[in-house]
Amino acid sequence: KAKAQGRNGYAFYTEGMTAEAAEQLKLQSALHQAIINNDFYLVYQPKIHLASGQINGFEALIRWYDPKLGQISPADFIPLAEKIGLINDIGLWVLQAACTQGVNWLTQGLQFSRISVNVASLQLQKSDFVDKVRDILLTTGLPAKHLDIEVTESCMMTNQVAVIKDLKQLSAMGISISIDDFGTGYSSLTYLKKLPLDTLKIDQSFVKNIPFDSNNSAIAKAVIALGHALNLQVIAEGVETQQQADFLLQNNCDLAQGYLYSKPKLAEEVNEFLLPIRPT
Ligand code: C2E
Ligand code: MG
Ligand code: MG
Ligand code: MG
Repeated sequence: KAKAQGRNGYAFYTEGMTAEAAEQLKLQSALHQAIINNDFYLVYQPKIHLASGQINGFEALIRWYDPKLGQISPADFIPLAEKIGLINDIGLWVLQAACTQGVNWLTQGLQFSRISVNVASLQLQKSDFVDKVRDILLTTGLPAKHLDIEVTESCMMTNQVAVIKDLKQLSAMGISISIDDFGTGYSSLTYLKKLPLDTLKIDQSFVKNIPFDSNNSAIAKAVIALGHALNLQVIAEGVETQQQADFLLQNNCDLAQGYLYSKPKLAEEVNEFLLPIRPT
């Protein structure tokens, strides 16, 4: 029988294991090692103001390159990190790195409204999350008004009262809150009025093939209307074509993000997008 992942990150393989289980174990120990070796880095994808075409902000997205395994997608390792209790360490590293980069841009005189950081539900469940965010803002020197956190609807599935309280504290500090992948979760709409939200992100599955897919077009329109009725900003993710962008602008969507504008890029490559602050 296979022995489970050890505390110190060693995995044991046996012949009875399925190939998939062996693969998971390999990934697990590599992930432990990646934290120790600091093998993560961030890329940044611009968020575009549709009406003006200007850059509004950036979403920070984690990347992991393992010398043996190659590039591993966050869609694969973030759920694993949640499962094996590594998401808090990784998540704090992401926050720290993104805030540091934000200060870097600001001190170079480059302007942006906010950097968005994805925060996993499990991170929000931790009782010291707000304190940790406050510490990171203090030590990096990033003003809270330049930080946005993206949470998914699943954060409302457990410990609702505690999560609402945390998000309210973050919001009171000046951090904005976005709901990521909106419409794909299982939670009810009730949370929309309970949470201190600023932005709805229309999930990319609903942006696919608009305006040609009539269902998606209807959903996208409805989400924009819902968001605006609740005084929220609305952003569409996964925008790849000009037709999608035209449809979104016609329907008053505020912001867009996607390959049409830019793939996520290294911080150095992003510098060229940012306008220097003009002297007044
Ligand atoms: P997400 O937060 O919804 O991020 C959007 C994903 O769509 C990103 O994938 C981005 O690279 C990709 N994308 C952007 N524009 C386009 C486009 O035009 N077309 C298509 N097809 N895709 C586009 P990525 O970077 O692979 O991240 C996948 C997911 O992993 C993220 O979804 C997020 O849930 C999670 N993730 C990434 N970084 C972090 C992190 O630092 N912390 C946490 N907790 N989760 C993260
Ligand atoms: Mg996101
Ligand atoms: Mg998303
Ligand atoms: Mg997603």
